[in-house]
Order: sequence, then structure tokens, then C-alpha cells
Amino acid sequence: MKIAVCVKQVPDATVHKRLDPSTHRLDRSGEGALNPTDLNAVEEALRLRDAHGGEVAILSLGPERAMDSLRKALAMGADRAVLVSDAAAAGSDLVATSHALATALGREEPDLVLFGQQSSDADGAVLWAAVADRLRRPMVSQVAELTIEGGTLTGKRQTEFGYDVISAPLPAVVAVSDAINEPRYPSLKGIMGAKSKPQETVSLADAGIEADRVGEAGSKTTVRAVAPPPAKSDQVKLEDDGSAAEKIVEYLAEKRLI
Ligand SMILES: Cc1cc2nc3c(=O)[nH]c(=O)nc-3n(C[C@H](O)[C@H](O)[C@H](O)COP(=O)(O)OP(=O)(O)OC[C@H]3O[C@@H](n4cnc5c(N)ncnc54)[C@H](O)[C@@H]3O)c2cc1C
Repeated sequence: MKIAVCVKQVPDATVHKRLDPSTHRLDRSGEGALNPTDLNAVEEALRLRDAHGGEVAILSLGPERAMDSLRKALAMGADRAVLVSDAAAAGSDLVATSHALATALGREEPDLVLFGQQSSDADGAVLWAAVADRLRRPMVSQVAELTIEGGTLTGKRQTEFGYDVISAPLPAVVAVSDAINEPRYPSLKGIMGAKSKPQETVSLADAGIEADRVGEAGSKTTVRAVAPPPAKSDQVKLEDDGSAAEKIVEYLAEKRLI
């Protein structure tokens, strides 16, 4: 079975996120990391490959330095990594990103495409749906348990009220939740071995992606202005002289919050 996992490099959780005032884009110059739920997607792909055979390919659209994060997936055990990287792709929104990934996936022809549920920087939780739509493939999101038998996948899908169990024929697209598994830590052997695994950085042209369908040219949204959130007003600071608890209750009652 050929499995492709789409992953994104996001700013490391310890980095203070800021928007660049000149481009209105997230400043990605600091330390990068593999998006947290993408680790669950990689882990699930490795388990499926080990049970059914085949290969796990990692795919991303991003700047060249994103390969550092893709290498983590290789160190976990993935077989190869493909990074689509091109200056013309900078500023790609959901529409442009989904076009680029769907075109690259169309060339790979995987039986199963796995995504993480949500990126930790843009928090869209929607890219997988756009890619599945472009590929015209069935898709199941928020999957907390995944099994494959014959040519059919079954996903146990977490909802607000319990679980849905959904089956779909392969090839298909699945977005996994962080409840699906516990991602493994790469071993030292895995980290050393990752260096010699195939790692391709391809341009838009190499991947067969039209330059005018990505980047700002191919995007349907424009960020027109950004501004910091307004400073919090109406703050009350209490020095605890033993009566702080009553004062908090009085304050909440005055605001009709209790
Ligand atoms: C005007 C505008 C400009 C933007 N410019 C940029 C930019 O210059 N650079 C930039 O990185 N983002 C940019 N973005 C954000 C970009 O559009 C989103 O990152 C992208 O649409 C994915 O959405 P998301 O991050 O909310 O992912 P979600 O939908 O939350 O992601 C779900 C899953 O999709 C996969 N995924 C997400 N992104 C990628 C990717 N790039 N490659 C492979 N798999 C992926 C991961 O598995 C992830 O867990 C811009 C957005 C706007 C509106």
C-alpha cells in the first residue's frame, strides 16, 4: 500500500508568534517544528505500512528549511520525503495550497493520503477537505481509530456526541486526531538513517504545478490589515490582606457574573 502523509512545518511551540507588518504573513524566521497532529498522521502511516506492506512518502509545500522538519518524519521511519518549494509559492492561501498539494499527490497516486487534523499556526482544519475535493476522493476527518481491510478503510470519527463509524473505498483521504495514537520518538539509529533516505526538494515546474495557481497570484484571499488586540481594560488588582476572596465575590456579583 502506498501511503502519502501531508505535513507542515510550523513555528516551534516555544517561539513567540508575530505577524510581519509588511507582508501581513506569519513570521516564520524562528525555529520550526513538525506540526503536532502531523506526528500522529506519520505514526499511523508507519503502523499501517508495517501491517500491510508498502511505503510511506512525506509531502509538504513550504520553504526549503521545512526539509529539517520532514527529516523528523524520516527519522521516525518514513521511507522518503518530497518538499515542493518555490519562491513563487510564498503567500499561498488555502485555495492555492490545496491546488499545489492535490497536483503533487495526483502524480504520486497513493492508495491513502493522511493529514493531521489541524495546523498549530493557521488552525484552519480544512486543508484535507479541499485536497480530497480536488482529487475527487472520499474523505474522513477527526479519525481516532483507523483500520484497513481489503480495499476499504473504516474510520472511527470523534464527534461532540460520541463516535461515527465511516467506511470508504480506497483511494481515500483521512485526517487523524491526536487521540489516534502516541507518536514514537525517533531512535538514534532512525535519526542517523534518515540522512541517507531519499529527500527531494522540487520546484513548482518539477511537480507540474502552474505558478499562477499558487502564491499570491493563485490565492483567493488577501489580508488587508493586521492590528494587535486591544489592551485589556477594566482590570482590578487585589492585594490579599485576608479579604481577597470576599472582594472577588463582591466584584463578580457587581458585574452580575454570579
Ligand atoms: C493571504 C494568506 C497568505 C498566506 N501565506 C502563507 C505563506 O506564505 N506561507 C505559509 O506557510 N502559509 C501561508 N498561509 C497559510 C496557508 O494558507 C495555510 O497554512 C494553508 O492553507 C493550510 O491551512 P492551515 O495551516 O490552516 O492547515 P489546516 O487545514 O489546519 O491543516 C490540516 C493539515 O493539513 C496539512 N498541511 C497544512 N499545510 C500544509 C502544507 N503546506 N503542506 C503539506 N501539508 C499541509 C497538515 O497535515 C495539517 O495537519 C497564508 C494564508 C493566507 C490567508
